[in-house]
Amino acid sequence: MVFPISLEGYHLEEVVIIGGGVAGLSCLNALLDQGISALLIEGSTIGTPKMCGEFLAPIAAQQLQLWDVDPLIPIPHAAFYAGIRQLDIHFTKPSAAISRSDVELKLAARARRLGGRIRENTYLEYTTPATERTPFYFKLSTGEIIEAKSAFFATGKLSNNKDNKKIALPYFGFKLHFSHTENDHSLKMFSLDKAYLGIVPITETISNCACLAKREAVDAATSPEEHFRHLTQSHPVLKKIFTPLDLSAIDILSGRAPAFTQKKPPNWPNSYWIGDTLASLYPAIGSGFAHSVDSAIQAVQSYLKQQPKLYRINYSKSIKTKVLLGNVFNAALLQPKVGQLALPLLKRSPKLVNLVLKKLDYV
Ligand SMILES: Cc1cc2nc3c(=O)[nH]c(=O)nc-3n(C[C@H](O)[C@H](O)[C@H](O)COP(=O)(O)OP(=O)(O)OC[C@H]3O[C@@H](n4cnc5c(N)ncnc54)[C@H](O)[C@@H]3O)c2cc1C
Repeated sequence: MVFPISLEGYHLEEVVIIGGGVAGLSCLNALLDQGISALLIEGSTIGTPKMCGEFLAPIAAQQLQLWDVDPLIPIPHAAFYAGIRQLDIHFTKPSAAISRSDVELKLAARARRLGGRIRENTYLEYTTPATERTPFYFKLSTGEIIEAKSAFFATGKLSNNKDNKKIALPYFGFKLHFSHTENDHSLKMFSLDKAYLGIVPITETISNCACLAKREAVDAATSPEEHFRHLTQSHPVLKKIFTPLDLSAIDILSGRAPAFTQKKPPNWPNSYWIGDTLASLYPAIGSGFAHSVDSAIQAVQSYLKQQPKLYRINYSKSIKTKVLLGNVFNAALLQPKVGQLALPLLKRSPKLVNLVLKKLDYV
């Protein structure tokens, strides 16, 4: 292990990770597994509830279990609903579900057990990028300056920088936990009018519901809450689930969201961009966690060989198909009419379904 030199208000580090979501915490764990010390800076408190479907695609489920994130609820089956149509899909690789807060808290706990250093409620205010000859300088909200040779950026899809004001927010998300009477170990995905909604059990007694809606539809409603209620009554299966629930007694997380897309982060030397900072995937394909974990592991592998450029080129290339499929599924799920036509066709084309599932690493 390499230990940092620390003077008051000035720290010298080999490696700094900015952002303590799934990507940043995966990166910290992957570095610690290689005996490398790193400092992780998180602007908020780790485990604060965030918008999420809480479904883990196989790559995420397998790796997170190796990092002591458990108990995971196995999800071997998904049902897609569009109007009166339904398509059932079986994952041959193990998919799972767990609350996103638990994932982050458990990754942080494991990292701390291994000697990982995490600073919460400390915000990166300014970065002086590294050059071929000089290191990074990070100015934190505490007034401290951190000098680091290498940096992993994991600040998420809405990386909080000066350009934030320019980011369009065409979507609106809703998320809530509710008690269920039976755990059928399946992901239910509903294609609704200008929205889609996923439900998955995250414990034996609790399910998570997440919904992504077009902002224009939410803005046209009396209130976001009213629009969400309307969506939960717009499909018979959803009606059955939501009618017995008292939504006014449940905390519903809601907020605007940007379009999901592949990013072009700056090409600074010794910088690694992981998770949603490099590419954000539409929740329609349930692969955001898998991408966060996988990009973190691959970035650490490249860090060991000191090849940031190779990571960036190879990983950006490998994620392209998922970005594309995310866009296609997102567009389709926002229009139930498309699903009504497509689901019967897909039912008759198991080879095509299998090919798509393979591209998304589900089989
Ligand atoms: C509605 C919705 C549903 C989804 N459903 C699923 C799903 O079911 N399955 C799935 O796999 N994926 C899903 N995703 C995607 C998934 O949540 C993300 O892809 C993934 O969590 C991204 O992780 P991350 O670590 O890159 O980013 P984040 O989790 O956003 O973490 C970034 C962290 O960086 C911190 N930060 C930002 N700026 C600074 C700064 N300047 N200084 C210090 N810290 C900073 C933030 O506080 C934050 O904690 C969904 C997304 C949405 C919006």
